Amino acid sequence: MSRKPEKATPYFMIVRPFNMVAPPTPVCEAPTFKPPSPPVDRGDWTIPVMDENGAPAFARPAVPVDFIGTINVEKPDPFLSDAAKAKRQAHLDREAELNRDCLEKAVFILSQSPTGRDVLEQMTKEGYRIVFDERRTGDRGAGGLCDPSEKLIILRGHDDPGYMALLLGHESVHAVQNTRHDLFPSTRHKPEVGIKMSFAIEADAYAQQSQIALELAYGDPQGPKDQWKMQEPLLQMRERFPDIIKAAERVLISDKQLQNGATVAAAYEAFYDNFYLRTFYEDAHIDWANQYAPKLKGSFPWLQRHFSKDTDSQWIKDRIQHRGRPYLNEHLPNMTFDDARHSGLTDVTQKKIQRFYKNHVKGDAPELKKYGVHMRDAAELVLGLTTGIHAIFKPGDAPPKASDRTPPRWNS
Ligand SMILES: [Zn+2]
Repeated sequence: MSRKPEKATPYFMIVRPFNMVAPPTPVCEAPTFKPPSPPVDRGDWTIPVMDENGAPAFARPAVPVDFIGTINVEKPDPFLSDAAKAKRQAHLDREAELNRDCLEKAVFILSQSPTGRDVLEQMTKEGYRIVFDERRTGDRGAGGLCDPSEKLIILRGHDDPGYMALLLGHESVHAVQNTRHDLFPSTRHKPEVGIKMSFAIEADAYAQQSQIALELAYGDPQGPKDQWKMQEPLLQMRERFPDIIKAAERVLISDKQLQNGATVAAAYEAFYDNFYLRTFYEDAHIDWANQYAPKLKGSFPWLQRHFSKDTDSQWIKDRIQHRGRPYLNEHLPNMTFDDARHSGLTDVTQKKIQRFYKNHVKGDAPELKKYGVHMRDAAELVLGLTTGIHAIFKPGDAPPKASDRTPPRWNS
């Protein structure tokens, strides 16, 4: 899908008190005494808003996040007149203002979903900050990315808060995976293991993103009846990732599945059927590894430190968590990351890995399991059409400094 959804959100909740004044008492009625009803205990849901249909509802306060602002690296054109420079500056200021405004709304939306709240709170506690930086989101049109080495969530400007909420939710999941659970592919891992981990963490990010959309549309089961709900992110998910969101909705037969991790686990597994996403992450990771290998090669001790580590299936499973619960252990107890479905690669990627071992590691590539079809236009589709993704290191971007590099996760 386009980097921005076709339709800009045509409404937004207006955060202002709606009319709470009681209607005038009819004077000619029979004098029946009615005691006033006790105030509803609506817990956290204290902010009066309008819902999508213009009806009054109550929302929860936004989770506080650390927002840096909009980075502008543009140098003023020395040939411009002062008036033209001032006009340009006014335009940049206006853009920064729109970014702040959209982010504020996106955080407010995310804060209505229990999953959204959880990832925002966790990533902020871990020291992550949010910034708009078009230079970092890059020329490929990524909408956002998570950079664990700088603890930044980097966004591109958008005018659709519902879309930005999903994007921010997805990237926040990566922030938590990396910083809290040390769950991230890096140059420590064998390339095929890096891809297995890429699949694992992306499946989790898409699954929680789906969960956020469901919680916003269906409401928090623990919330009051008049809580604010929002359909738009779910409609966007149905359009972009119909297979993933359908899998989650299929198991959603009561509130219970929305609360116990069943919907998240169903969405998680559906990720593995999406060959576009698989191809995209296979390509992204092996390209990234190929770019880093020659730079790291001279370092000592090369073989022990880089591209040598495997990861135990159960270790990953324990760290894939939704709201603090390892939901795969609970809902998919027999699932393993060692089978073809969860670690198998297309023939195209297998060849690239064999070449990687030959060129960089000087050993034979291990026996690799085969799975999937390599989709040739995956990058265009994922970056141009879907809300996906991930690890592309551009030439000239951050040279390797630490011994363990982790690829940033991209989202379009
Ligand atoms: Zn991702």
